[in-house]
Amino acid sequence: MPELRKDPITGRWVIIATDRAKRPVDFVREKVEIRGSGFCPFCYGNESKTPPEIQAYRPDGSPKDSPGWSLRVVPNKFPALGIEGTLNRQGEGLYDKMNGIGAHEVIIETPDHKATMATMPVSQVESVLWAYRDRIIDLKKDRRFRYILIFKNHGEAAGASLEHTHSQLIALPVIPKRVQEELDGSREYYHYKERCIFCDIIRQEQDSGVRVIAENEDFISLSPFAPRFPFEMWITPKVHQSAFVESSKTEFERLAFMLKDMLQRLDKTLDRPAYNFVVHTSPVPENAHDYYHWHIEIMPKLTKLAGFEWGTGFYINPTPPEEAAKFLREAAIPAPVPVPA
Ligand SMILES: [Zn+2]
Ligand SMILES: [Zn+2]
Ligand SMILES: [Zn+2]
Repeated sequence: MPELRKDPITGRWVIIATDRAKRPVDFVREKVEIRGSGFCPFCYGNESKTPPEIQAYRPDGSPKDSPGWSLRVVPNKFPALGIEGTLNRQGEGLYDKMNGIGAHEVIIETPDHKATMATMPVSQVESVLWAYRDRIIDLKKDRRFRYILIFKNHGEAAGASLEHTHSQLIALPVIPKRVQEELDGSREYYHYKERCIFCDIIRQEQDSGVRVIAENEDFISLSPFAPRFPFEMWITPKVHQSAFVESSKTEFERLAFMLKDMLQRLDKTLDRPAYNFVVHTSPVPENAHDYYHWHIEIMPKLTKLAGFEWGTGFYINPTPPEEAAKFLREAAIPAPVPVPA
């Protein structure tokens, strides 16, 4: 019998297949391969083919828009939103509209065309996290923006148009609906219980252990109770923190380790799937929410959404999270030492 499960934060329902649950080998799709053929605007020497850089890490002190960088942030050449102008919020009868103001940036994570976030050194993953932080802190100063979303599309099936590894940032003049649902749900829980729902989830998951994938001193990674997608995982700080930018140097080191580790396990378990991840953090300007707890959601691209999902907002997930967590635990690199019977 399939099971209907409700996400305790957003109230979203999912249908979890329990009979004939899909194992990693049951997902037939193309693996993400980096071919390295053709022109790449993100490689050394092609800096003039992107818009001028906003920020770069240049250990050798080389000039702007030239090789020598270890990480580069540039505006998106085809931005979803424009940076110049005023919002001009208006009503048209009962309808609301405003100008499409926002920032759309690309974080080129490494000059190495062949690297992925799963294969690059942990120190480079950490640099990427620092770049996220730097850009969020800078864009927060712009009073037009209410939310700054960091996300990553890995592989063509997940929406990446260039194979050279990169993340994106979009600063928005409104709080996105997905985030608003999480904010509303966690605020309601907080008013009722005077506790953070994410902190409560972490404690309960640590007690039961069935959906825990890995833990280090500061971070935990989980298969959520009601995941929309097979092998979906969340990484979150174990101690309450509402905003990504509040993390310390050691926390970023441990997060980099955890993120790389989880992406390596995905590659190993599902043979290099396409995936998306998003960083959900509290909106600007008010950062210090007692009730919201930042996290990263990683969603491998294994299933297609169809009429039922679009028509209902339900999701059908063919792999119970308890099984996904077990596969991902066993994919630890190096392999966990088997416990003697
Ligand atoms: Zn490249
Ligand atoms: Zn919390
Ligand atoms: Zn979230």
